[in-house]
Amino acid sequence: MASFKKMHADSIADREAFWSREARRIDWHKTPERVLDYDRPPFARWFAGGTTNLCHNAVDRWLTWNGGALADKPALIYISTETDTERTYTFRELHAEVNRVAAMLADLGVGRGDRVLIYMPMIAEAAFAMLACARLGAIHSVVFGGFASHSLAQRIEDATPKVVVSADAGSRAGKVVPYKGLLDEALNLSGHKPARVLMFNRGLAPMPLAAGRDVDWQSLANRHFGAVLPCVWLESGEPSYILYTSGTTGRPKGVQRDTGGYAVALAASMQHIYCGQPGEVYFSTSDIGWVVGHSYIVYGPLLAGMATVFYEGTPVRPDAGILWQIVERHKVAVMFSAPTAIRVLKKQDPAYLAKHDLSSLKALWLAGEPLDEPTARWISDALGRPVVDNYWQTETGWPILTYPMGVEALPRKFGSPGYPMYGYDVRLLHETTGEEVAVGEKGVVAVVPPLPPGCMSTVWGDDERFVKTYFDSIPGKQVYSTFDWGIRDADGCHFILGRTDDVINVAGHRLGTREIEESISSHAAIAEVAVVGVADQLKGQVPVGFAVVRDPGVIASTPARLALEGEVMKTVDSQLGAIARPARVHFVTMLPKTRSGKVLRRSLQAICEGRDPGDLTTIEDPGALAQVKEAVAAK
Ligand code: ATP
Ligand code: MG
Repeated sequence: MASFKKMHADSIADREAFWSREARRIDWHKTPERVLDYDRPPFARWFAGGTTNLCHNAVDRWLTWNGGALADKPALIYISTETDTERTYTFRELHAEVNRVAAMLADLGVGRGDRVLIYMPMIAEAAFAMLACARLGAIHSVVFGGFASHSLAQRIEDATPKVVVSADAGSRAGKVVPYKGLLDEALNLSGHKPARVLMFNRGLAPMPLAAGRDVDWQSLANRHFGAVLPCVWLESGEPSYILYTSGTTGRPKGVQRDTGGYAVALAASMQHIYCGQPGEVYFSTSDIGWVVGHSYIVYGPLLAGMATVFYEGTPVRPDAGILWQIVERHKVAVMFSAPTAIRVLKKQDPAYLAKHDLSSLKALWLAGEPLDEPTARWISDALGRPVVDNYWQTETGWPILTYPMGVEALPRKFGSPGYPMYGYDVRLLHETTGEEVAVGEKGVVAVVPPLPPGCMSTVWGDDERFVKTYFDSIPGKQVYSTFDWGIRDADGCHFILGRTDDVINVAGHRLGTREIEESISSHAAIAEVAVVGVADQLKGQVPVGFAVVRDPGVIASTPARLALEGEVMKTVDSQLGAIARPARVHFVTMLPKTRSGKVLRRSLQAICEGRDPGDLTTIEDPGALAQVKEAVAAK
């Protein structure tokens, strides 16, 4: 692996030389004065003094590139299996739409540095609104559509937007999810009141407009037909957006992203990590409410001159072949999804995976949670295409660990998201001594600052929280903590063992819940599992598992269920030892997850311990929790 190894070493040894080369991937209005300003650690200011604009680089630039070769080629392919709609916007059309929305927002008083909160379903207008903000130098804060009032109000209060952009409703698995009521309630709850609310009407749900505050999208749009506004050139460090973390582990933090560093980091990743080329098609199944949606639905693909598939729908409607049908029909070159989507497919007929021509697909990249070996192997065999794990966080904006497929075809190991990416000086540190751990030993995944371009510049409005939260947790060192456990093997491959707060202590033995989950999911009958530590008088804590079986038939009777529970325990015994054996394995048909697909382990643990499950506004399906309660009560 000489070539990537050298690239990585160079990127750390001389950061400025490395990133000044990468910076040429984007257009600058004014060339940066300093590649890196690190006068105030751990705050890194990349490309200081340079001015640029994300919308220019994502849209305008492609109108003239290569003699206009891309101007009339697809830029955004909108597909909704919820409303049976499909529409392709070329770069020229996208440019027109974005300009119109920019003019509408400017009309509502939005300018440079103002916040615009976007609470929208996966409709093309949401992308137009994001890019329009970028054009105006305004700061967008996209809040996942479907967050309930309380979560939404928290974010409105923190980001203090001048304008909120929303729609009448989203749609999920064929069911309309009205937004307006939730939004109105959030606006009531919030201490901060935005001046204007711009409402897009899809015709799915009632959308009463509050006089003086709410504005109908279409009426305003009619007044700005054909508008063209110049891009506002921002200094590289000026914020492009605020995005709140998923809140899996606590109070969400407003991750603030810069402009120039983010543009460069994404453009570089499109080449080195995702192998994307201008004119090709990128398909990410995420949602604009998450960081993957920001980096790899909207900005990354467009910054690379690619068409982006903007998909509203689930992986199983109208049938479990829909994702692959889209790949075939649009000749998708790069696809990005999450392990949770793959586990959903694992429960369906595998024949759907073989039905479509996937020869256009270079690889499938998966991120968001640990990709266990059986799932990785299953999808890779089923697709016959490379499957690439990548590990990162809302905070970092692009992968910390993965396989740099655009640089070198390194051997891939199932279960491992690979190697530290260029720019990341990754260390595995002992949680109490702060020393680096040896090969094969577990440590906290940390990054020696400065963080590379694209990573968060601070917590919105709270520099102190940024330093305290992320750089103050390892004793004696100012390093960035990911709060994930990792391990490195002799080849330099990393494995993520779960979050630092997901460790259980059984009679003095520290066990990662992830290891037990891996073991349980290696049992052929299990599709998905979550393990939590539950308080126990004798042992301190014991592991308890919640498993989803592939075929409900296998647990149709109580004896069958008990037999499977016994078998699963035996599997863990033989792989990890009796100490890791779960005290119970409950069978459910779904796990309680956040809308981003992350298991709500804290809530599972609370229910097992008879406590209140806590804040559940991000839960995907409350029915999952009811099942858990029932299962726990039954035994
Ligand atoms: P919060 O920080 O508010 O609790 P969150 O951490 O769930 O929310 P994200 O930033 O969306 O919000 O998720 C990042 C986390 O997801 C990582 O820290 C890691 O725990 C997990 N993760 C992401 N990708 C992978 C991966 N490929 N393998 C293992 N874990 C992953
Ligand atoms: Mg996190």
